Amino acid sequence: RMEVGKLRTGCEEFDELMGGGIETQSITEMYGEFGSGKTQIAHQLAVNTQLPRDMGGLDGSVIIIDTENTFRPERIEQMVAGLSQKLEQDFDPAEFLKNIHVARAYNSNHQILLVDAAMEMANNLKNTDKPVRLVIVDSLTAHFRAEYVGRGTLADRQQKLNKHLHDLQRFGDLNNASVIVTNQVMSKPDAFFGDPTRPIGGHILGHTATFRLYIRKSKGDKRIVKLVDSPCLPDGEAVACITTDGLCD
Ligand code: ADP
Ligand code: MG
Repeated sequence: RMEVGKLRTGCEEFDELMGGGIETQSITEMYGEFGSGKTQIAHQLAVNTQLPRDMGGLDGSVIIIDTENTFRPERIEQMVAGLSQKLEQDFDPAEFLKNIHVARAYNSNHQILLVDAAMEMANNLKNTDKPVRLVIVDSLTAHFRAEYVGRGTLADRQQKLNKHLHDLQRFGDLNNASVIVTNQVMSKPDAFFGDPTRPIGGHILGHTATFRLYIRKSKGDKRIVKLVDSPCLPDGEAVACITTDGLCD
């Protein structure tokens, strides 16, 4: 087993909450309402992963499985500019964009298959100076939610999701990579999925994702990040800000 890496978020409280950063060889689930900041945080992690280790990164490249067409290159550029300022470096946004490999997933089956493609890409990059150290699935659950509607399909959906998460865990283990998945939850009770505080995927996701983060909006650009039911870290909350420059204290 390779030594577990820790990916810093850009927000100290957030890092502390996670015991130093987002771990490699683990799945970290971010769940929260629409607009809570899941995709923003994912963008930031796609940038930070590329930093050298002494700057809190994993010195690696990134694969994003984008299911909702929410990846924005311009946002990466803004965040790289923010980092250049913060770390007093002259980072090249184009270089960062080059190391983020984005694949659109058109449905849940395609999404599942893209993990195999990601594995192949990771194998190809393994002995380069930028091995894949982060895979993001944003959103993990949207296609599943849209496709598996109604009671009779629930067991099937859970089984597929479970296998998908298992594949992602394997990806993280084999590549010493972090795995980030997002999961949107409803603010109001949902006729199909019931309890709004329990994200879809329910218990199966709860047991597979090693770290579960509940993200919610607070005043202004503030976000509350809550660590829920961690097997190895105390529960707690952190306040993070999302600004034009990216995630910060
Ligand atoms: P989710 O993925 O959880 O639905 P997002 O990550 O897309 O939510 O968050 C969207 C929010 O992020 C926006 O409402 C805004 O508050 C913030 N945001 C997006 N882009 C920027 C930006 N360039 N500068 C500052 N804040 C931004
Ligand atoms: Mg999003």
